[in-house]
Amino acid sequence: MSKVLIIEDEVAIADLEKDYLELSGFNVEIENDGNRGLARALNEEFDIYILDLMLPGTDGFEICKKIRENKNAPILMVSAKKDDIDKIRGLGLGADDYITKPFSPSELVARVKAHLSRYERLINSNMQENDVIELRGLKIDKTARRVWVNEEEKQFTTKEFDLLCFLAQNPNRVFSKEELFRQIWALESVGDIATVTVHIKKIREKIEYNTAKPQYIETIWGVGYRFKV
Ligand code: CA
Repeated sequence: MSKVLIIEDEVAIADLEKDYLELSGFNVEIENDGNRGLARALNEEFDIYILDLMLPGTDGFEICKKIRENKNAPILMVSAKKDDIDKIRGLGLGADDYITKPFSPSELVARVKAHLSRYERLINSNMQENDVIELRGLKIDKTARRVWVNEEEKQFTTKEFDLLCFLAQNPNRVFSKEELFRQIWALESVGDIATVTVHIKKIREKIEYNTAKPQYIETIWGVGYRFKV
């Protein structure tokens, strides 16, 4: 289920957006204050952000800019003034879409769906076709077999690199340890599936900011692992 964060200080509008999105199967969270909204946007994982422009605390311009620097998810900006929309476009803050109030909730839902599927296609093709994968500060050069985290190069063993690369090229798909073992160690008779766990742990120590709350390689309990985009 896709997670949506709405940052909107007009409670009635936020609730209306939430109701319609929930009817379409989205999991929706609301923040009515700009500072709290920005903190959640940066510290939690959402699939799409809907931002009002004028907010108490941090305004929508600043929130948009900060999300774009840190997250790979679509941003929809909402504003009551057509002029403001022109201003946002002009600033090039990296918003994906703009909606003027009042808007029909069903139009909002349609746009949210369209942006989510566009992002999914874009990310999947990027991950598979490009030689360099870049995501939230992680950079993997598949040809040179080098990895950087926030511009700092990290050393990987052959198998660690193969495993990271395989997961990153197949984002958002859950693989069992057995599948990963077959993919990466198939031709060798050494090791067993516990090797996968050990390698995931080592990769996380190199790429994750907080290994207790991994933002790249997620553990799906009882199933396996998934590279999250
Ligand atoms: Ca407002």
